[in-house]
Amino acid sequence: MCGAIWHEMFYIISNSIVSCTLLRRKSLRNILVGPWDLWVGFLFHVHDDLSLGLQEMATFTSNLLSATRTIVTFRTALGIIILGSACVSLDHILQLQAVVSNLYCRAFMDSFTHGLVGVLSWAIVIGAIPPTSCRQLGEILFCGMLSSGLDVDHFVAARSIYLQDALVLPHRPVLHSTSLILLIGFILLLTTRITASHKLRPLPYMFLTASLSHHIRDGSRRGLWLWPLGSTPPLPYWTYIGLVCILPVVVELFLDRTESTLPLKASNGAVSALSSM
Ligand SMILES: [Zn+2]
Repeated sequence: MCGAIWHEMFYIISNSIVSCTLLRRKSLRNILVGPWDLWVGFLFHVHDDLSLGLQEMATFTSNLLSATRTIVTFRTALGIIILGSACVSLDHILQLQAVVSNLYCRAFMDSFTHGLVGVLSWAIVIGAIPPTSCRQLGEILFCGMLSSGLDVDHFVAARSIYLQDALVLPHRPVLHSTSLILLIGFILLLTTRITASHKLRPLPYMFLTASLSHHIRDGSRRGLWLWPLGSTPPLPYWTYIGLVCILPVVVELFLDRTESTLPLKASNGAVSALSSM
């Protein structure tokens, strides 16, 4: 629209200058007012273009709002507020001296926070705030266990059952590689598509929600590990909170788009003091 207007304006002005030069009328008034019929036509054209543009913008805004209303329901908004508040509150508790000074207490609180973030994230994804069926509750708790259990790879890498050994690894354990998690999620997605198992369809999304929320939370201390590219700098605190809150909405968006034939929502079901974790 703007390009056409500028092109037309340039045409009128150049035409005006040429005609005025030919007629030896070089005053600014003659240059501007001379081709008045062209200017009137131009203004009508601008008016039409602007009306069309405003109409298009109104349609686009209306479509965007209706899409946003579809994704961000009241329950989703409530879930995001609870999730963000839980993160901030539990992070604050993790900073308390009584928690910091006790290794096992820190480990428990950190693991509990990872689990709770996983629980709330999946509850947002399936629109189950609060859960209304055993299946929903089972899925939500399973996602929490996945998120919390991801730190088991510290013990596997340390080849020890002792917390002290798990916390002094020279490198980050394999399940803390975000690129690897994305690859596993993709393979899971392909597998569930190939097997066409309706029961397993939420699994890739649940795995990604649990793992990525865990990684983002850990990322506030150590950054995201994108093997083989390296690691990002540690995420600023409010970036981590924002990403944790946005993640379930993004997963919900993918679920809505790619699983529209799957009645997931209607089917009644579908942590740093461990600083090194
Ligand atoms: Zn971890």
